[in-house]
Amino acid sequence: MDAMTKPAPNPLLAGEVPPCFGLIEAAHIRPAVGQVLAAERAELERLAAVETPSIEWLRDTERLLERIHDVWSPVSHLNSVASTPELREAYNDCLAEVTAFFSDLGQNEGLFARFEALGASLPSEPEAELIRQSLRDFRLAGVALEGKDKEAYREISLEIAAKQAEFEQNLMDATDAFEHHEADAANLTGLPEQVLERASAAAAEKGLEGWLFKLDPPTYRSVMTHADSSALRERYYRAWVTRASDQGNPEWDNSPLIEDILKLRQRAAELLGFRNFAALSLAKKMAESETKVLEFLEDLAARCRSFAEKELKTVEQCASRRLDAWDVAYYSEKLKQKTLRIGDEELRAYFPLPRVLAGLFELTERLFGIRIEETTGPPLWHEAARIFALRNADGTPVGKLLTDFYARPNKRGGAWMDGCTNRSRLGPLERDPIAHLVCNFAPPSKGAPSFITHNDVVTLFHEFGHSLHHLLTEIDYPSIAGINGVAWDAVELPSQFFENYAWHPDVLRSISSHRDTGEPIPDDKIDTLIASRTFLAGLAMLRQIEFALFDFMLHSRTEPATRDEVQALLDDIRARVGVMPTPAFNRFQCTFGHIFGGGYAAGYYSYKWAEVLAADAFAAFEETGAFDPETALSFRRAILAVGGSRDAMESFIAFRGRPPVLDPLLRQAGIID
Ligand code: ZN
Repeated sequence: MDAMTKPAPNPLLAGEVPPCFGLIEAAHIRPAVGQVLAAERAELERLAAVETPSIEWLRDTERLLERIHDVWSPVSHLNSVASTPELREAYNDCLAEVTAFFSDLGQNEGLFARFEALGASLPSEPEAELIRQSLRDFRLAGVALEGKDKEAYREISLEIAAKQAEFEQNLMDATDAFEHHEADAANLTGLPEQVLERASAAAAEKGLEGWLFKLDPPTYRSVMTHADSSALRERYYRAWVTRASDQGNPEWDNSPLIEDILKLRQRAAELLGFRNFAALSLAKKMAESETKVLEFLEDLAARCRSFAEKELKTVEQCASRRLDAWDVAYYSEKLKQKTLRIGDEELRAYFPLPRVLAGLFELTERLFGIRIEETTGPPLWHEAARIFALRNADGTPVGKLLTDFYARPNKRGGAWMDGCTNRSRLGPLERDPIAHLVCNFAPPSKGAPSFITHNDVVTLFHEFGHSLHHLLTEIDYPSIAGINGVAWDAVELPSQFFENYAWHPDVLRSISSHRDTGEPIPDDKIDTLIASRTFLAGLAMLRQIEFALFDFMLHSRTEPATRDEVQALLDDIRARVGVMPTPAFNRFQCTFGHIFGGGYAAGYYSYKWAEVLAADAFAAFEETGAFDPETALSFRRAILAVGGSRDAMESFIAFRGRPPVLDPLLRQAGIID
């Protein structure tokens, strides 16, 4: 090949940080992933055969993981924010290869033996913690099992993954199959204009008169909250809580899958030497024991219950009758409008995104002395994506934040933080961290900035809290820097902690500027907004506790439950803990994708667990002042800087001087004074 036709270098292999996202094409993905995995398989074999592992050997294993991250992270990011059919195909192809690589790595006995040897000779931190976590992950991948068991474990893992995917698929198909056709406008009063417009377009598309409604979550929530027709709400409620169950099309019934998954999980746990799946799940969590988790949930439930009962009574009074399950959300909304007189849309006019960001950055400087300014860099994946540089007060660079705020086609919904580049200080690999912060706010219209709801503000602060965790880390090993290596039930601490600032009057004033007047949000509106935070908070909390208890008790059994036993357990928890009316046809378990389709099995309690930590951490600031720089410095040092380099409880105690307590969360929810 002569110089004239030499192809341009593959941007995925250029080793730049941040990568040149704008130059990456679908055609670059397979060659780059193939090349890096082949090279790293060889490196893996070399490392697994090294005679005497040293610190340098440990750093080599970290550099190996980083080289894979450098190629795979931009691919998966693009798959989420700038998807095309070609890109998705290349991504799916390579995903299997990457997964296989990590599964082989997890069961590599040579590598495992060298981690063990190094651990025995190297007791100092943070390396010791990195080795402890690595050894744990090898064991949880089944590395220590003998021949037949090892093979069985690998097969069970694959089978669980396939059944979980099937569970999700059934749920999706059952949801998508539902349709409700309505010809009479009188039955649709109360529904928001937006929902009606979509339904009338859907009807027109099928050549029908009137409106055609689907069962997607926004439509479901709108009907339950706003539809005046009790018959329509009942129909929707019934459809929602019987999806993928024995009450519908048997083809999509998830009940047999639930039995299979529970059996497989119990087998997997036993192979690894655990009593049950809950114990296996806790191996990677902050909570010390099954008893601790159950006590935590029961205690929280006991403290919320009478409060939630009272809340339900007020809703009933508002409705002037006993409520059915499909009435609660509807009359709660009526009560909210009556007591608070506040609307999301009215508040939106106070929060132009540029002002919100400026206020958020001022807050960061006030707390941590960190300055954040927009900067330039390589071409990114979309013109709306921006780069911000973070610097310490003395001007030294801390890291970068890549933002992508607006909703658009071919971008995954929701909001998230992700590590673009991990912090590392590994000899030739010296890097500052870079974070992705992605949201789906309404895009700006011509000549005006994007105005966001207060709910969006809370989301932004949440993801920004995760970003600071990633960016303010001072750990040199990527595997335990930032959010990496942090226990699953503690990782939401910084994010939920940061949400509190979105409710602080000073911050609300500094992030707001009215569309017409430029004035900050007035005090009376601040008061109402803050009051709305605790509106029916007891009912919401109790519902989450019910789910968490069901999940944890189900996985605490040593005999996998049959479908009747699953139902009996759920009924029992509802009767004992819940206050909401639940009809006998309810099959919530068949729709519980978090634990049967995703990674929250015996871990749903994590949401509440981390919320306790976050509220208690913020209470420290309430004692010294929400903006007290010394408390902020202590939070930065004890929680943000150390990342996953030490036990989450140790970090919490280092900040708070004691283990976490429940009261601050109950106060925050208005359940106690
Ligand atoms: Zn989060």
